[in-house]
Amino acid sequence: MPVNILNLPGLTASDFKETDTEYHVKAAPSAYSKLCPHCGCSHTTIGHGKLPLFVRDLPTHGKRMMIHVDAPRLLCKPCRKTFTATMPEIDETRQMTERLVAWIGRQALDYTFAAIAEQVGIDEKTVRNIFTEYAAKLQSEFKRETPVILGMDEIHLGKARGVITNIGERTVVEMLEDRYKTTIIAFLRSLEHPERITHAAIDMWRPYREAIQEVLPNAAIVVDKYHVAKMGNESLERVRRKMKETLAPKINLGLKHDRKLLTKRQHDLTDQQYLIVSGWLRSIPLLGAAYDLKERYMQIWDIESKEEALAAYLNWESTIPPDLAKAFKPIPVAWRTWRKYILNYFDDKRVTNAFTESFNVKIRRAYQNGHGYSFEVLRAKILFSDSLQKRVQVQERVKVKRKQRFEDIQEGRVMFFKMMVAEPEPKYDIRIVARITNLGADLPTLLDEIDRWTIL
Ligand SMILES: [Zn+2]
Repeated sequence: MPVNILNLPGLTASDFKETDTEYHVKAAPSAYSKLCPHCGCSHTTIGHGKLPLFVRDLPTHGKRMMIHVDAPRLLCKPCRKTFTATMPEIDETRQMTERLVAWIGRQALDYTFAAIAEQVGIDEKTVRNIFTEYAAKLQSEFKRETPVILGMDEIHLGKARGVITNIGERTVVEMLEDRYKTTIIAFLRSLEHPERITHAAIDMWRPYREAIQEVLPNAAIVVDKYHVAKMGNESLERVRRKMKETLAPKINLGLKHDRKLLTKRQHDLTDQQYLIVSGWLRSIPLLGAAYDLKERYMQIWDIESKEEALAAYLNWESTIPPDLAKAFKPIPVAWRTWRKYILNYFDDKRVTNAFTESFNVKIRRAYQNGHGYSFEVLRAKILFSDSLQKRVQVQERVKVKRKQRFEDIQEGRVMFFKMMVAEPEPKYDIRIVARITNLGADLPTLLDEIDRWTIL
């Protein structure tokens, strides 16, 4: 038998068998606890037979590992009850070594439950349970730096979830189960320094706005530019789709084929693409008018000041032709309700969450294709995978309580009089302290990583 095959100090191996796929090791505990779980009396027990246990351990050399161990059964003399002795390094209820349980938890951040279950020789449900427990432990230690510019977006994974980002650092800091106001408020209150948030970029979702107004009354709310601007393209698409009823099927198909060119900004088109687009616009005048309206709407975000942007918008709104009013209606509606917050963008153009769009597209793919990737697992993978976290050293000014000096005590009486006439001495010193902080899951790293999850 290979010497020390288990490498577990608590178990002594005595026999060993091997098949193509499995190792079987017979072992005995080198020590065990005689503590009676019924009465807490630990020294007065007598042997009461053995319970053969079948314990799984870490896969070794690509094979599943099974340990056969006889757990001592004990009889407690004072209370006359029997029990199974607790052995070191073994999780008796799971019939696994503790190191296997820890390993499964960690592996579940990187591999599918099915792959781990197969490798160890257990069912997926057990992997899921262990992972849930592991994730709960990570959750209890979870701490993220409070962003200065907060992003709040939504993603549909089974239902609408909230994605919280640090816009300045390009990281994901939280993924919320849902987008209810209570959930958002609880999240904002859980932040260590909510007062540091100066701006919050949100989509046009009222509970976001109300939660921020309640918890962060001083933060500027900015409707994310991306969400307002894309309504131009959505309106244009509504016009194009409605044309199905009036155009010949062949033309319709061609138009559908080129729809991505129509929704691109005109100045981003290549010469060839521009020819295609202008061909469509000339041959279908209503589409030409809708396209012109979309382009002029997008131009609002090229403007520098808030006042000019508002004037440009109002002017734009007054030029919507009657036959396009219905298709473009969501825009005036949104501007009526959210105008102040839409215009806040022009005060600070850094405040946009647009970068999360690529994240949303990819994570949706991983949710659909990944086997076993529920929302909870995706969230844990993103927030807890060590390799994804963006960590930096920050220097902080902290107030430390001033130690009373010997002279101060001696001069106590004098100090007292001084305080009566002069300003009181500050009781705190300011000190610079360096610490490592976690800013959240780094988005560029995450985008590469999610591709790997999708292939699995
Ligand atoms: Zn007892």
